[in-house]
Amino acid sequence: MAIQSFIPPQRTLMGPGPSDVSQRVLSALARPTIGHLDPEFITMMDEVKQLLQYAFKTKNENTMAISAPGSAGMEACFVNLITPDDTVVVCRNGVFGARMIENVQRIGAKLVIVDSPWGRAVEPQRLEDTLKAHPQANFVAFVHAETSTGACSDAKSLCEIAKRYQCLTIVDAVTSLGGIELRVDDWGIDAIYSGSQKCLSCVPGISPVSFSEQASEVIQRRSTPVQSWFLDQSLVMGYWSGKGKRAYHHTAPVNSLYALHESLLMLQQEGIENAWHRHQSQHQVLAQGLTELGLNFIVPEAERLPQLNAVYIPQGIDDASVRQMLLQEYNLEIGAGLGEFAGKAWRIGLMGFTARRENVALCLTAMAEALK
Ligand code: PLP
Repeated sequence: MAIQSFIPPQRTLMGPGPSDVSQRVLSALARPTIGHLDPEFITMMDEVKQLLQYAFKTKNENTMAISAPGSAGMEACFVNLITPDDTVVVCRNGVFGARMIENVQRIGAKLVIVDSPWGRAVEPQRLEDTLKAHPQANFVAFVHAETSTGACSDAKSLCEIAKRYQCLTIVDAVTSLGGIELRVDDWGIDAIYSGSQKCLSCVPGISPVSFSEQASEVIQRRSTPVQSWFLDQSLVMGYWSGKGKRAYHHTAPVNSLYALHESLLMLQQEGIENAWHRHQSQHQVLAQGLTELGLNFIVPEAERLPQLNAVYIPQGIDDASVRQMLLQEYNLEIGAGLGEFAGKAWRIGLMGFTARRENVALCLTAMAEALK
């Protein structure tokens, strides 16, 4: 049979990401492709930078979008900042903290792990005790919103502790940016990365990052080249920086950046505090409904992310057949468990454009039928 054009089904995406992309963002994606060094495009990139500074609540000059998914943002932060001479404290309470550990191991830096139980926030006291015991530590890394469990860590307190011990901070905000309170400058975050496909509700494949002045100086002072040519910030900034002539580094994903521009503009027009509030209020309706259906949350209420609702699969219910029924009958995607919770939990996302009342209602109706 001849291959036809691919027409995807119209789903409602309530998994751990990607989230639903609005028609407004999809339309931006379909605008004419222009050159990545076209002056019009460069003007738009400057606006993307401004909008990212707004979303991250930062004045960091070194703020940009990496042309690759969140994992590349993670790697960019680690490979640019860390060398084998450094000691990095990584807080692990789920899958993505474990990925940070792998990054540190591959660089060959000294690694200290602070473990907190999966399904719980990182414990600030454990970080403090670890830093006391390891005075040579110079970096602290943690995940703000652990997508594998739905736990929200207290980024402000963790950064405050790290600063007291003269450590630079690396924060994973892949799932947090746009969904919950996040203040890069006020909280003293030195390197942060996110993803386009979660609470920004843009198409997947772009990773916003931002580096503080102090972090940028560390990168500039490196005596060895960054082992990744593609992720080397000093080279990428030649293309993203407002200063002087833009130098070709790689061919930017032009249309995806139109989409990011539109999704960030939507966030700014809504007002980021309003977006945080919308995630919280829709989460409350969803959480109440799921609880009424007899589902139990993994994460205690005070540590829960509004945008990622992880619930235990009840005894006797078949994980895969429920998710398949939701997809087939309701065009609704929810996520399977990951890591320690594989086969034991569902992850129900309420991210970005998905976090709307009609989707909460659809999810509750569909789940009620699935659990009958
Ligand atoms: N960090 C967190 C917390 C995530 O949730 C994810 C993806 O789900 C990543 C990193 C990796 O991002 P990506 O899948 O865009 O590479």
